[in-house]
Amino acid sequence: MIGSGLAGGLLAAYLGRQGYDVDLYERRADPREGNIVGGRSINLAISTRGIHALERIGIADEALQHAIPMRGRMIHDKSGVLHFSPYDVDPQKCINSIGRAALNTTVIEAAQRYPNVRVHFNHKCVDVDLDTPTVQLETEHGQLAVRSDAVIGVDGAFSAVRKSMQQKIGNFQYDESYLPHGYKELTIPPGPDGSWCMEKNALHIWPRKSFMMIALPNPDGSFTCTLFWEFEGARSFVTTKTDEDVRQFFEEEFPDAVPLMPTLLEDFRHNPTGSLVTIRCAPWFYGDKVCLLGDAAHAVVPFYGQGMNAAFEDCVVMDECLERFPNNRERAFAEYFSRRKENADALAALAIGNFIEMRDKTASKTFRAKKKLDHLLEAALPGIYLPLYTMVTFTRLPYAVAARRARVQDLLVYVSLIGIVAVLVGTTVWFVGR
Ligand SMILES: Cc1cc2nc3c(=O)[nH]c(=O)nc-3n(C[C@H](O)[C@H](O)[C@H](O)COP(=O)(O)OP(=O)(O)OC[C@H]3O[C@@H](n4cnc5c(N)ncnc54)[C@H](O)[C@@H]3O)c2cc1C
Repeated sequence: MIGSGLAGGLLAAYLGRQGYDVDLYERRADPREGNIVGGRSINLAISTRGIHALERIGIADEALQHAIPMRGRMIHDKSGVLHFSPYDVDPQKCINSIGRAALNTTVIEAAQRYPNVRVHFNHKCVDVDLDTPTVQLETEHGQLAVRSDAVIGVDGAFSAVRKSMQQKIGNFQYDESYLPHGYKELTIPPGPDGSWCMEKNALHIWPRKSFMMIALPNPDGSFTCTLFWEFEGARSFVTTKTDEDVRQFFEEEFPDAVPLMPTLLEDFRHNPTGSLVTIRCAPWFYGDKVCLLGDAAHAVVPFYGQGMNAAFEDCVVMDECLERFPNNRERAFAEYFSRRKENADALAALAIGNFIEMRDKTASKTFRAKKKLDHLLEAALPGIYLPLYTMVTFTRLPYAVAARRARVQDLLVYVSLIGIVAVLVGTTVWFVGR
């Protein structure tokens, strides 16, 4: 396996349990040595799909012990007024803010409990010969070629394994599309007594139409804020060069956050600006020799908080397929691909759609009314009406099924509303006419 990120560690644990002999090669140093994922999000939201995947191997409690439940969105408008919008009609349903480094360590340690799993840090994959299959690795001591029965690429959005497939499989389909927005992480430190300076159990959003900032709580009392903003344009990352530009932008757009961000200028200057990419490719496997999983197969933008959850769900499906076809790996890979591809594509579209919802619509009264209506219908029609966010976040319904079901529900709600309005207008006209 290539890549001991979130999905790599978890899949290695599943494969170790099934008795496979696994060598997991990771280009970075051991995250336990504190050298973690520079430039990626410090914390993430984990929900039902991800938790289920951790439960499957008995590490959910361990992973979630320091996670912070977030029960809804806390919307900050420009005047500092707050609106809380719960994620679900059931207050127990929440998403959880979890540290990437701690979760990564938990899954790697789960894999290392199996003596047949070996993790090799500081090994960077530079090429894969698909037919043999042989992986070329760069290490501190020079190049190394490792031959194996199969190679699984869990090496993230800029996967070297996928690149080899792209170069060597004639009809490999590949599409990458970047948003015009980038992201930058900033910090709200803990208060003087180590407590949280804003509501702890919420995902904070400052929606500003074409851009937004969000903040997720950390166990040490801090919040990690992420600014999603255009790379280019009149007001953008490119044009905001000086400390004064940054201060002015934040004071205009996020005035209630500024007093809570004493290191804003340093953070803005020093933290990298990441890009946001959607990657679609096919096929995800090459015979019984090579397979892709997680972001390597389907990177999505982070606005549904589902990239890792989906990568963990891939691990579950791969585990099931290998269990089902223990003597036919090609069939297992093919089955895994056919079960996941449509869902990964559906999630990619949902994630882009949710950016528009978060940065623009959450600020509007109509959005809040629609959420209330959603929750009303969910309570009135239990098990029949499920809001899209609920299906994606709090169930394990395949993403494509959730998206289709939401479209039908929306159509029925709009038709019913039009019907009700028509009846009301008709009745009024009839009364007035009498
Ligand atoms: C800003 C941001 C916020 C996010 N928020 C959320 C969220 O709230 N909820 C959620 O579910 N998802 C979220 N995601 C998505 C989530 O981070 C990814 O979907 C998830 O990390 C995918 O896991 P992975 O194991 O496939 O890839 P990764 O976690 O990227 O791991 C890939 C691993 O492979 C290693 N690697 C890469 N290349 C090589 C190579 N050539 N040789 C050897 N090793 C290599 C890397 O070092 C890394 O350790 C967010 C993403 C971003 C960018």
